[in-house]
Amino acid sequence: MSDSVPARIIDGKAFASGLVDRVAAAAERLRGKTGVRPGLAAVIVGDDPASRIYVKSKGERAEAAGFHSETVRLPEETTQAELLAVVERLNGDRAIHGILVQLPLPPQIGADAVLAAIDPDKDVDGFHVVNAGRLATGGRGLVPCTPLGCLMLLKHELGDLSGLEAVVVGRSNIVGKPMVQLLLGESCTVTVAHSRTRDLPEVCRRADILVAAVGRPEMVRGDWIKPGATVIDVGINRVPSKEPARAAEGKTRVVGDVAFDEAAAVAGAITPVPGGVGPMTIAVLLANTYAAACAAAGVEAEPLDA
Ligand code: NDP
Repeated sequence: MSDSVPARIIDGKAFASGLVDRVAAAAERLRGKTGVRPGLAAVIVGDDPASRIYVKSKGERAEAAGFHSETVRLPEETTQAELLAVVERLNGDRAIHGILVQLPLPPQIGADAVLAAIDPDKDVDGFHVVNAGRLATGGRGLVPCTPLGCLMLLKHELGDLSGLEAVVVGRSNIVGKPMVQLLLGESCTVTVAHSRTRDLPEVCRRADILVAAVGRPEMVRGDWIKPGATVIDVGINRVPSKEPARAAEGKTRVVGDVAFDEAAAVAGAITPVPGGVGPMTIAVLLANTYAAACAAAGVEAEPLDA
């Protein structure tokens, strides 16, 4: 059992880096064949510092992969009508294949109305109801980046997932629910747990695959995990530094939704935080933009899983 055999660490950072390389090479071939260069537009409203850093990084990564990249920065007081007009322009721009609107939006703008206005075939975040419907009915569409990244890591680690017991803790539209659909699509037996689930530790102990997408620091303990299970920790939580002096200065560190050391002593494989799921999100965003560009060019996208 597990105490003497520590879990394999699933290196999401390395996998994401390889995926970006594969996307860049495939995009180059697409351009050579059809003249189409994948284009990604990011729209940001207001001055939220974390959102600005995130959008800047997306633009830089897109350019590094050889994509055309456009960032639209709008002031905090932008109206919903003004933002919808920008989305409409990007929907009609043939150089743009992927549109993302950075959330959260200021209170005068309804996020649902804006996400619904994005052309579903350019919805590289996969949040549009049309893409949620395509995923739920087994159709082809753009899939939310974080859960698709989790699935890529799982398939790379385990190969065929068919018949495995999967438990997803969290049922948000952007992570938990699409994760459930993806695992169902791989013929797992899927349980979705949430804040009203009774005896969550017992439910988790059934899982061959445990995906935690909760937003509660280190909530999943070592004794919730079936020996040998594969654990995917989606959580990104800021907590005070372990060193009291640094914590007193307000210094923080990032932890996941899983108590890593305890879980790694029991699990067969586990994603660390940071360096697990996190780096996959932008890599999959580029992969989705490449796929959207292929669809626009009328050619089949090359498979990008390792
Ligand atoms: P949400 O807050 O939208 O959803 C959290 C889910 O967890 C809800 O379904 C909620 O249940 C459930 N939950 C909350 N408390 C408990 C509890 N005590 N027991 C069981 N279930 C509980 O979060 P997100 O899905 O957006 O994000 C989840 C985590 O993933 C966060 O830490 C976030 O930062 C991270 N994240 C990471 C990304 C990455 O790139 N790696 C991308 C996106 C998110 P209920 O529905 O009943 O309220």
